[in-house]
Amino acid sequence: MAGEFGNPEVIQEEVDVLLIGGGMACCGAGYEIMRWADAAKAELGIDLKIKLVDKAAMDRSGAVAQGLSAINTYIGTEQDPADYARMVSNDLMGITRDDLAYDLGRNVDDSVHLFEEWGLPIWKTDENGERHDGSQGLPTLKDGGKPVRSGKWQIMINGESYKWIVAEATKKALGMDRIQERIFIVKLVNDKNDPSRIAGAVGFSTRDHKVVVYKAKAILLAAGGCVNIFRPRSVGEGTGRAWYPVWNAGSTYAMAAEAGAELTMMENRFVPARFKDGYGPVGAWFLLFKAQAVNAYGEV
Ligand SMILES: Cc1cc2nc3c(=O)[nH]c(=O)nc-3n(C[C@H](O)[C@H](O)[C@H](O)COP(=O)(O)OP(=O)(O)OC[C@H]3O[C@@H](n4cnc5c(N)ncnc54)[C@H](O)[C@@H]3O)c2cc1C
Repeated sequence: MAGEFGNPEVIQEEVDVLLIGGGMACCGAGYEIMRWADAAKAELGIDLKIKLVDKAAMDRSGAVAQGLSAINTYIGTEQDPADYARMVSNDLMGITRDDLAYDLGRNVDDSVHLFEEWGLPIWKTDENGERHDGSQGLPTLKDGGKPVRSGKWQIMINGESYKWIVAEATKKALGMDRIQERIFIVKLVNDKNDPSRIAGAVGFSTRDHKVVVYKAKAILLAAGGCVNIFRPRSVGEGTGRAWYPVWNAGSTYAMAAEAGAELTMMENRFVPARFKDGYGPVGAWFLLFKAQAVNAYGEV
């Protein structure tokens, strides 16, 4: 019996590429993939079926929901991608993939330029070294505008609407028929003939009495981080508070692990070590408040 109190309606869909999550990662992937999809259609006559599913509404979903104050990484003219890869490796005690960090460093500025083109106000410094909140009248970064830095890598933005801006660009690129919001994916399905491959994903609608089964040739699972794994040392009113949003419940790790994936680069337990009794971003503690971290030997 289907219906409100019976078994849910089961909907099946077959796609070539399934993007799970509608955060910054999948918005970026959703935007970029259309260039490849359009080329595949024009040059090879292949019409790729693409679907992005998000458990929430993309305009305000994920960690960027409430907006951000800065972009953590902009390489600019002051340093290069190799410097960035070295910093990442040093910061995370060498438990990193230099190739991935380098590749990120190589491409990140192009993404930031796009954000600015789409309307994200980025703070600028003028020729007298004066800071301007937003970018009115000053050249864009792409045209040589100088960002306001806090720390070596970070640049300041007016980021309240950051997620809206990026989601809008993705929606425009993909088109709404390739996007399904309010679908909570709960399980990846392994290929019957090759269990080391993923053949699909199953989720449910958070609005309607429906289960959705996607068959896909390739899946990108980018459903955000995971909060409240470590018990904080903070007590009383501070207990259980987290900087990262609590709705990031670890789907990325859990579903991949359950499907047999090897989780690499998960060894860093840097958050408790860095901020013993606090909850806040790296930027706020060290770059804004100029706090120092001291180890058991009293060394900075
Ligand atoms: C308060 C705060 C401030 C920050 N400040 C800054 C800053 O100033 N500068 C900076 O550069 N970075 C900042 N960050 C970090 C930055 O926001 C994140 O690194 C980034 O958003 C991560 O992107 P993501 O796509 O991996 O994950 P998210 O943006 O979290 O996206 C996860 C997506 O997956 C969806 N999802 C989750 N589970 C499922 C599921 N099971 N099925 C379907 N969909 C699912 C979610 O709805 C969401 O759309 C901040 C983070 C926070 C929390």
